[in-house]
Amino acid sequence: MNTDKIYAVIVAAGRGTRFGRPYNKVFHQIDGETVLSRCLRALARSNIFDGIYCVIARDDENLFRQTLQTENTASLVHGIAYGGDTRTASVLNGLDALPEDARIVAIHDAARCFVPESVVRACVESALKWGSGVPATSVTDTVKEIAGDLAIRTLNRDKLRCVQTPQTFRLAELKAAYEEFDGVATDDASVYEAKYGGVRLVCLPECAENIKITLPSDGERKEHAMRIGMGYDAHRLVEGRKLILCGVEFPYEKGLLGHSDADVATHALMDALLGAAGLGDIGKLFPDSDPAYKGVSSLKLLEHVMSLLRSRGYKLCSCDITIVAQRPKMMHKRDEMIRMLAQTMQVDAGLISVKATTTEGMGFEGEGLGISASAVALLG
Ligand code: MG
Repeated sequence: MNTDKIYAVIVAAGRGTRFGRPYNKVFHQIDGETVLSRCLRALARSNIFDGIYCVIARDDENLFRQTLQTENTASLVHGIAYGGDTRTASVLNGLDALPEDARIVAIHDAARCFVPESVVRACVESALKWGSGVPATSVTDTVKEIAGDLAIRTLNRDKLRCVQTPQTFRLAELKAAYEEFDGVATDDASVYEAKYGGVRLVCLPECAENIKITLPSDGERKEHAMRIGMGYDAHRLVEGRKLILCGVEFPYEKGLLGHSDADVATHALMDALLGAAGLGDIGKLFPDSDPAYKGVSSLKLLEHVMSLLRSRGYKLCSCDITIVAQRPKMMHKRDEMIRMLAQTMQVDAGLISVKATTTEGMGFEGEGLGISASAVALLG
């Protein structure tokens, strides 16, 4: 069994001037979570590291602590170091902060917050075996050498690789390389190469996903990743209430009991939508205790849910509702239900599906005591 202690150092002290925002890009939010927290979670999920250290700019310390507290990632950080004037100085501060038992170190740019677990694992395994492991991709564009405005030579791209992080090394070897290094390094591999003649490359197909957030738009590519949510609701059938499903009234001797119009299908749909966006549920958004929602049409609430989703950059890809009721029959009103939802949600009716089923007399729906509904929603 391997007993070498393995640590990660996340370098987050840069200013990211190309990013074009007044703050450090590691605090940029993608899909409601900062680049930094995403990066921490990505490394922590691999379950490889005995500890994760962060190198941060001294000026960012308050923001760093607040952000991690808010995003519930503070416990993933085992120590911090302050950045220096250059990347090299920052990395050295990070290496110095590591505990004495550290044998392997993975140095990772915070901006590569989507690093796949398989890439992290392969780099660490390579460093354990060979002393180094650096993720790399082949070059697909033709690369030219330039002189002024002219391209003067075409390089053989078969002999070129683009390298990423985490760049992973035996710590003692990397430190020795840094001691002898005299120059400007844009990555740790070049320091290691200078002393040992080369680094081991890890070329996995998943390296393609290990993008670096350099421009705000890099994050947006992932901002529209698909998210799925599910919702469920049930209401009691009682006399003296209207029966409303997906905003459509059904002539029936009973109706659903609830604080609002008790539209169980729309409630399930809203919970699916909110679930997909990670925004809680309708109980949290529209509490029963609030008189504002007494008797309110659930379509009004759905309208609000959709505007909330839009403000977060989500759009509906599709949703599917199943209503479970013994009676009344409802499929003759299916198109009307879909139209009503589509109008309220301001989406194409083709994105919405409504189905109904009985339970062959079993359970509370089958006995006519109530109606339930389930829904799933996919957001992009
Ligand atoms: Mg409900």
